[in-house]
This record gives sequence, structure tokens and C-alpha cells, in this order.
Amino acid sequence: MSAIIWFMIEKNYRKVKEASEGKAVLCVVSKTRSFEEIMTYYEAGERVFAENRAAELKKKAAVLPSDIQWQFIGHLQTNKVRMIMPYVSCIQSLDSRRLADEIEKAAAGINRTVDVLLEFHIAEEDTNKTGASEEDAFSLLAYCRALSHLCVKGIMVMGPHTDDEERIRAVFEKARTLFEALRAEYPDLTVLSMGMSSDYETALSCGSTMIRIGTMLFEEE
Ligand SMILES: *Cc1c(COP(=O)(O)O)cnc(C)c1O
Repeated sequence: MSAIIWFMIEKNYRKVKEASEGKAVLCVVSKTRSFEEIMTYYEAGERVFAENRAAELKKKAAVLPSDIQWQFIGHLQTNKVRMIMPYVSCIQSLDSRRLADEIEKAAAGINRTVDVLLEFHIAEEDTNKTGASEEDAFSLLAYCRALSHLCVKGIMVMGPHTDDEERIRAVFEKARTLFEALRAEYPDLTVLSMGMSSDYETALSCGSTMIRIGTMLFEEE
């Protein structure tokens, strides 16, 4: 990243770091960003980066430092699971048994275990339609926990596409309630991944433990 751009963006980075300090892990969403842009944050001390395309994750992970904990956050096609398995630290978008089976097979194939988050679609009319349904949460979690090469760490949720803070808050509160209900049964769940550039402050106030930030870390407002 050029010095002049970094000069303008560093204040956003500081703002996010201060807001999340002691509460949530910052996941730097590096999709579409260059090696050089990613290295700016690596050199600042960040180690958790997220991609939403399998081929792009593979390409970046193959050349960037090996201590980066790559997160997969997009829709994952079952035929792309093997491509990312040598590189990915956590798959945050596990939303079906079919995908869980494929992840299990690919992880077993290279003799590793892989962290996953279950992605849920929290009911709201115009919410992003990706993710498993809330009603299926306990059953899907039990299914995934029975697979020996998966380690379920928690859940991931997207906020609704709206400027209405109260509606966003309502979805994040529901997500937290779901997370607490699952955790009451399985206390080893630790990750509630929610909050992006536009809604991370609301997410943090609703108990997010991981925020996924792209735009505001790479583009000036
Ligand atoms: C792109 C993306 C983000 C980051 O969004 P920004 O608005 O750029 O901060 C977070 N989560 C998911 C699942 C994404 O696809």
C-alpha cells in the first residue's frame, strides 16, 4: 500500500482496533486485495485474513507467510474444498451436511483437522440468504461434531443489508441468543463471527467475538 493511502487509512485501522480490543478478533477481509496490501496489515501485526474464493485463497496462501490463519468466508462449492484444505485455518461458511461431509473427507485425506464455523441465516426478510436455518442449528451442530476431522468453534452470521441500525441490532441479538443457547449445551464453542465495515460497532455491542472487516481497511471513506 502506498504511503499516502496508508496515511489516510491508518486511522480506520486504529479505530477498528480500539473498538475490538479485548472483545473480538479482527479478521482482515483480503478478498480482491493485492499481496502488497495484505502485507501492509501483516507487517502491522495482523495474522487472521479472510478470502471468499477458493482459487484466490490458494494462490495467496501459497506465497504469503505461512503463519497467516486463512479464513474461508464465501459460499464454498463442494468441488473446491480439496483445493483449500492444505491452506485454510477455518471455514466460516459451513451451512449444510453435504458440505460438512466433503470437508471431513478432504481433511481426512491429508490427515489434518480443520476448524469450522456454522453459518446461519437469521430470519429477516431481506437478509442475505446464505446460511443454514436457525431451526436446524442443534441438529447440524451435532452432525458436524460427530465428524472426526472437523472442529466446530462457533457460528457465523451476516447482518441484513440495510442502514436501519435497529433491524441490524435485532438480527445480531438473535444471533447472540442462538450462540448462547448452543454454548449452554456445548461450552467449548467460543466464536461468534459477526460484523463487517458497516455494522461492526453494532455487532460488538451484541457480543461478537470476531469481526470481519474489508472495505474500511483498504479504502478511504
Ligand atoms: C466481504 C465480506 C466481509 C467484509 O465486508 P466489508 O463491508 O468489506 O467490511 C465480511 N464478511 C463476508 C462474509 C464477506 O463476504
